[in-house]
Amino acid sequence: MVPETERSLLLQQLKNYLLFLKESGHTQVPLNSELSELPLLAIPSGTFPNSQPLESRMTANSLFSDSTDDRELSGGLVDVREELGDCQRCKLCETRNTIVFGSGNPNADLVFVGEGPGADEDAQGLPFVGRAGKKLTEIIEKGMLLNREKDTYICNIVKCRPPGNRDPEKDEVDACKPFLIKQLKAIRPKVIVALGKPAASTLLGRTVPITKERGTWHEFEGMKLMLTYHPAYLLRAYTKENRQAVYDDMQKVLEVLKA
Ligand code: URA
Repeated sequence: MVPETERSLLLQQLKNYLLFLKESGHTQVPLNSELSELPLLAIPSGTFPNSQPLESRMTANSLFSDSTDDRELSGGLVDVREELGDCQRCKLCETRNTIVFGSGNPNADLVFVGEGPGADEDAQGLPFVGRAGKKLTEIIEKGMLLNREKDTYICNIVKCRPPGNRDPEKDEVDACKPFLIKQLKAIRPKVIVALGKPAASTLLGRTVPITKERGTWHEFEGMKLMLTYHPAYLLRAYTKENRQAVYDDMQKVLEVLKA
């Protein structure tokens, strides 16, 4: 009999893995001939003291061993997700339900970076699926006339929900930032949009006064970076002026995307 704790961790891993496949554009589960080789994302050693280490059968190659096309589609993001594994690098792992890695097109020209998952995102394993997510989808689809899934990739500065939706703390951002950087370098979009002050400050490595600096261009690792308000802020301060500001910022992004 598999102990209950081990069973629930394995189910959580399986859920994360299936979500990951979905996020990286797969429409089918890559099958290995042996069920015992079912690829899982890395589980840290020592998680299951009495069982055979699972890492030995989990490599980036084994994830997509029967699907070259899928590997090409997902590119380096596969490796980044694999390296993140069942992350325990900061205290957010103690309270999260799901790691929210990111979603959308891994080859997108446009990436949005938010702050961190909320309750809806933590439950579903996908970024921006709550109220702020609906607003972001509206900005993308009605304001920019793009398709959220096909034309963009969306992620956050931290991949796990801060309890009670508090701001992520410095140690949490520091632990997660290397993965954000690797994600962005793997996608290498034409434009990154930082949503709100925490995302802008994390990417620029300084405290950004977002009201002053929104609508301005910056550079991140050789990629163009636009700063704008977070959709949750727009919902809180739903003024014509703020809506116009985000609309204007996104028109600037479109000009670069279309150039
Ligand atoms: N949902 C996210 O995924 N990120 C945010 O910053 C807010 C809501």
